[in-house]
Amino acid sequence: MATPITVAYGDGIGPEIMEATLHVLREAGAKLSVETIEVGERVYKMGATSGILPAAWESLKRTKVLLKAPITTPQGGGYKSLNVTMRKTLGLYANIRPVASYFPFVKTVHPKMDLVIVRENEEDLYAGIEHRLSEDVCQCLKLITHSGSERIIRYAFEYAVKNGRKKVTCMSKDNIMKLADGMFHKLFDAIGEEYPQLQKEHYIIDIGAARIAARPHVFDVIVTENLYGDIISDIAAEVSGSVGLAGSSNIGEDFAMFEAIHGSAPDIAGKNIANPSGILQSAVMLLVHIGQAEIATVVHNAWLATIEDGIHTVDIYGEESREKVGTKEFAAAVVERLGKKPSTFLPIEYRNAEKGAAAKAVNLAPSQKTELVGVDTFIRWRGNVAELGDKLTALGLKTLPLTMISSKGLTVWPKAGAENMHLTDVFCCRYRAPEGSVITTGEVAALLSRIADSGLECAQMANLYAFDGKIGFSLGQGE
Ligand code: NAD
Repeated sequence: MATPITVAYGDGIGPEIMEATLHVLREAGAKLSVETIEVGERVYKMGATSGILPAAWESLKRTKVLLKAPITTPQGGGYKSLNVTMRKTLGLYANIRPVASYFPFVKTVHPKMDLVIVRENEEDLYAGIEHRLSEDVCQCLKLITHSGSERIIRYAFEYAVKNGRKKVTCMSKDNIMKLADGMFHKLFDAIGEEYPQLQKEHYIIDIGAARIAARPHVFDVIVTENLYGDIISDIAAEVSGSVGLAGSSNIGEDFAMFEAIHGSAPDIAGKNIANPSGILQSAVMLLVHIGQAEIATVVHNAWLATIEDGIHTVDIYGEESREKVGTKEFAAAVVERLGKKPSTFLPIEYRNAEKGAAAKAVNLAPSQKTELVGVDTFIRWRGNVAELGDKLTALGLKTLPLTMISSKGLTVWPKAGAENMHLTDVFCCRYRAPEGSVITTGEVAALLSRIADSGLECAQMANLYAFDGKIGFSLGQGE
């Protein structure tokens, strides 16, 4: 029985590399029933700012699987990123990017690199929650959830087990973002205990990214948050020497999308010189996903044999190459090698996922005793901080006094601390109940109303909670 899949030919080099890929899949005997949709530049230009039309969603709802060529995002405001829209709408929470080097056939300074980045795909700064609070201040919310972190971390460990990987590395910045990244790191440690057979380690993201650039072979599976994952997967692809070779999958509970990691390369479109390997690698991942692991194995091994035989598109053509070929000719060379195994590279053998193997449940954070202990008010103010402190102190309640003012996270009141600091025009003004006591939302409302009546403007507020007695907010630097 053929499996229905949705295919988008995309823009730029998209149609050429997709046609080449589908040719290989057909010749390999993949059992696919292809529905074609249009997404991207033409759709944007028709006035659909999302880059996708309702009919395309209908196809996706039917097939639940998309093989997507890269698209061109028009420059200028108003257009939404189709990739971000799809990831969120289809709940594609995991972005899997395997990056390997193909030394000596593809030139690279990292001949032993073979890593997989598992990137959280829905949260973090990509939630796109931004506010301009004043003339001076724009704010972008970094949203990290317990449930989302647990889900991606579990996915990474399960991926490592199923794919015979030995080590999972977590990357975060929990030395600075102690609550958000701290939760991610803690969950990694806790869930990691369920996988004693795997090595586990944690890197602060900055040194982790540097290590990927300098010594990528020390990594196996890496799990990280959305923005860090975006950056390190480009670093990894770049240093592998083969940005045109890598594929990726975006996996959700019901849907999956497969695409090359590169863009639509308009500079070489229509010339039959683009490398179709990235989208072909994505198609291999798709075949495994839909239970056609045998065909995936045949295609991947034929592709490795082609690379080994020195049949190369211009982007990877070098000293070890034998023949420079175009997109169509490369696909034909892969087809010729279907059934052949590579001799220098290790042959690949994919297995279908066990049917009915239920994913482990992912939970919201366990309920905890939650107490309201204060409120941060973000007050628009240009001028003397001591004067602001006096005004706001007078507005405080007995049960909810002003305890601190900070600017860009640094405490500037009651202690002076900002002599050398460039102040901005929004201050975080913290009202906190005395140690050991709690307040009500009514008291917060009363305070906000007093601030409004005084003529001061509160651009934003955030309640301060304690969870099982532990504060759920950061202290001001110097507080
Ligand atoms: P790009 O990846 O398209 O191109 C970067 C360079 O790599 C170019 O020199 C290009 O010729 C080369 N290249 C890329 N893929 C290649 C291949 N398969 N074979 C040979 N050479 C290849 O990145 P860009 O130029 O920054 O972006 C072009 C367009 O693609 C933009 O509109 C961008 O928004 C879009 N884009 C789309 C996706 C996607 O749909 N997933 C991803 C990234 C960029």
